[in-house]
Amino acid sequence: MRFIGLLIAAAVAVWVYIDAKNKGYKTLPAVGWMLGVFLLMIVFLPLYLFVRARKAKPVEILTPCKHCGKYYQDTPLYCPNCGHKVGGYSFKEE
Ligand SMILES: [Zn+2]
Repeated sequence: MRFIGLLIAAAVAVWVYIDAKNKGYKTLPAVGWMLGVFLLMIVFLPLYLFVRARKAKPVEILTPCKHCGKYYQDTPLYCPNCGHKVGGYSFKEE
């Protein structure tokens, strides 16, 4: 059953690598995180998630458009996908 644990560790390590690359890490630090998580997951996984949460910028928050369902960044006045008005926090309910 040790094989299953190794498989999970490898899967999580690969996820960390891909996630780190997506978050703008260069290859070397991303590989470093991957190896750290793979070898010492109990230490590096919480550490990575902590660093990741601190690194995340508020502009990366995605909001679903209530008209077309696609996600958009920031708080634009109009949906970049369908063009419906989505921002501007109006007090009037339609
Ligand atoms: Zn839309």
